[in-house]
Amino acid sequence: MGKKVIDIVKLRKIAIICWLISIPLNFIGRLIYGFNIFFYLGIFFLFLFVIITLFFWKCPNCKVRLPFQINFETEVYDYVLCPHCEIKVEDGEIIE
Ligand SMILES: [Zn+2]
Repeated sequence: MGKKVIDIVKLRKIAIICWLISIPLNFIGRLIYGFNIFFYLGIFFLFLFVIITLFFWKCPNCKVRLPFQINFETEVYDYVLCPHCEIKVEDGEIIE
């Protein structure tokens, strides 16, 4: 059993989903003049993405911020490897 930590992999997935939702909403919002709910919802989801990434996307062991880029080839994995202290985080647990 590893040490229990915040499930950053799940949070990261939620953040990416927020980011993916914000793109079409912002695009639709740009086509409409004046007040429109699409634009504000798009900003809201983009804001959620930024907040989750800034506050939670860091190594639960050494607290160093993890790489920021979105890479769909590696994001499919269900674990994170910290490039600094080289621990593995999976399902909210640190696996040495
Ligand atoms: Zn680390």
